[in-house]
Amino acid sequence: MIIHLKNNISITEAQSLAAKYQAVLIEGNPLVLVTTSKLKQADEGLQLVASDIFVTDTDIQLAGKQYIATKREIKLKDLSIGGSSANSIVITGPCSVESEEQIESAAQLCVELGVRILRAGCYKPRTSPYTFQGMGLEGLKLLDKMRSKYGLQIITEVRDSTHINEVIEYADVIQIGAKSMYDHGILRQCGKTTKPVLLKRGFGTTLQEFVQSAEFILSGGNPNVILCERGIRTFETKTRFTLDLCGVAWLKQNTNLPVILDPSHAIGYSYGVPDLARACMAMGIDGVLIESHPNPKVAKSDAEQQLNFDEFRALYPTLKSAAACAGHQVV
Ligand code: PEP
Ligand code: MN
Repeated sequence: MIIHLKNNISITEAQSLAAKYQAVLIEGNPLVLVTTSKLKQADEGLQLVASDIFVTDTDIQLAGKQYIATKREIKLKDLSIGGSSANSIVITGPCSVESEEQIESAAQLCVELGVRILRAGCYKPRTSPYTFQGMGLEGLKLLDKMRSKYGLQIITEVRDSTHINEVIEYADVIQIGAKSMYDHGILRQCGKTTKPVLLKRGFGTTLQEFVQSAEFILSGGNPNVILCERGIRTFETKTRFTLDLCGVAWLKQNTNLPVILDPSHAIGYSYGVPDLARACMAMGIDGVLIESHPNPKVAKSDAEQQLNFDEFRALYPTLKSAAACAGHQVV
């Protein structure tokens, strides 16, 4: 149950109410208490202090349509997604920052096409400890340089608690990867900032678990969460993962959070990315994330799935048409 407190309730009173009802207190305006969803009725004590009460079916609460019936608007500096807009963003860049020359050519591709958001990882959650693990802080500084030089927004991912504050400081949008989606240290820390968070679905995660991870960030006080479907593991092995478009339809129907799709990690092979990306856009979603690299063959991570720049150049205008089919526009 979500309880908006009347504006004459002080923080101290709210804290003792939170303790009494084992609720999470969000110190915004209004002050908000979130109890377990098992609580279906407010007692007299709660009714007295509440200005609004929302009963929810499950612990998808702050992210749910029972709380906010419309999609949340998330501001990405001068861009916005969700809300009443039908905006879709395109995010591209290499899987990892590998060198200044490489990330600068990716930034230049964005500028050439009018793509506003550059994404690349500096702390990579690799499957093997013996492969490239990312450039770390040096990579973040290169992204920072690209932001200032080319006016781009930067998305980069946090892998674990050792560098979380650096990522929060350098990123315009913080990415939490599929493998870190259950890391409560990361989720809670991301709840303390108001920078937008792109939360990827774990590949073995149900939709309920996925959105409940988002609840950790939302209930920490950060309302700016974007969900990202990036493929789940099924019995099929010919493609890297299986992009769960049914899940996307469910997220659109049942949550108030913008949804972005990542066809690159889902299929894992560049040959399928353009078709899949258009299919995603045609669902009327809030954006796509597509990996591109100046020379994918020599990429230090996810080499097989990254588009080369000519492939991305050919794809980009068709994304606009696919978005238009669903009444969306690429911003
Ligand atoms: C990535 O975005 O480069 C990445 C590692 O993705 P995921 O967390 O979806 O595996
Ligand atoms: Mn990648």
